[in-house]
Amino acid sequence: MYLWSTQQLQALIDLLRARDYDVIGPAVRDDSLHYERIDSLPVGWGDRQDAGHYQLRERADQSRFGYNLGAATWKQFLFPPRETLFRVRDGDFVNCREAPQKMAFLGVRPCELAAIALQDRVFTEDPVEPGYLARRKDLLLIAVNCSQAAPTCFCASTGDGPEVNAELPTDLVLTECEPADPYYLVEALTQRGQDLLEEVGGSQAPASARQTVDRLMDATREQLTRALDTEELPGLLLGALDHPHWDDLAQRCLACGNCTQVCPTCFCSTAEDHTDPITVEVRHNRRWDSCFTQGHSYLTGSVVHRSVRSRYRQWLTHKLASWVAQFGRSGCTGCGRCITWCPVAIDLTVETEALRAAP
Ligand code: SF4
Ligand code: SF4
Repeated sequence: MYLWSTQQLQALIDLLRARDYDVIGPAVRDDSLHYERIDSLPVGWGDRQDAGHYQLRERADQSRFGYNLGAATWKQFLFPPRETLFRVRDGDFVNCREAPQKMAFLGVRPCELAAIALQDRVFTEDPVEPGYLARRKDLLLIAVNCSQAAPTCFCASTGDGPEVNAELPTDLVLTECEPADPYYLVEALTQRGQDLLEEVGGSQAPASARQTVDRLMDATREQLTRALDTEELPGLLLGALDHPHWDDLAQRCLACGNCTQVCPTCFCSTAEDHTDPITVEVRHNRRWDSCFTQGHSYLTGSVVHRSVRSRYRQWLTHKLASWVAQFGRSGCTGCGRCITWCPVAIDLTVETEALRAAP
């Protein structure tokens, strides 16, 4: 393990940029935290969040990673919200996908890394989504252990945080220590990460570094106030399709789809063809969809999930139950975004408890 100063963290960004990487990381804009192309990290930002509530705040320290998750996810860079796949003009078919720019994600949290690993399964196993695969191929991943938890986090319940799972694909793992005057404990998990570590330099971390990381992770675990009881959850949810609590949920849910748009693992999309009436060029566009829209379940002349009750139930049972059969684990990594960004504060950890109770 190495020890880096804030200058060495900046040197990593400079080195990657000099190597023609788009460095994507946290940025403060419009009173929120976004992920975008950066040339330095924002300093001294945190947030207050809870069900249906998010507020960016300034911290009284120099922390670079003192925030919890905003609405933005990394999936927008690997699976863009809108994309023209091809166009047709005068009978000629033109592939619109350009060769992607190399990217380095800086500041990926453990639950987000788990979400990327899940989307890898969705998009790079049979059938392969070529655009995702091309963007993912050279992606450099720099993860950060969480030194604080938000009230909406429940990553320990899903086994995805607050510490990075070293078995997931990532090149470097940082732990921010002493936010008043931060330094970083840095581990390489790939040869590419090891090469970067050596090029940036820094000193060998002291022998107590592992205990420092463990202590910080234990402190973060203690901050986790929400939990999702995953015990036999798939069977429980699929056996509760007629539970009256779905009616209660339908009374509150606005079917706005926010929960699906901020979720780092949701992968549904729809395609539309647009014809230019002058040139008669047709563009075939793909955009993110949500199981909360009527059109999402339109099938051979009719909508399958007509009611909000049916749509919410489809979302929750897919995310927490049928994903397990499909992908070997649930589709939730405990990031808490769907709780924070639900305008009516619907909380899947609370709703599943209600569904556990006998009707
Ligand atoms: S659960 Fe909340 S965020 Fe999701 S569709 Fe309903 S109102 Fe919108
Ligand atoms: S279902 Fe909610 S808590 Fe789970 S990964 Fe998606 S947004 Fe995060």
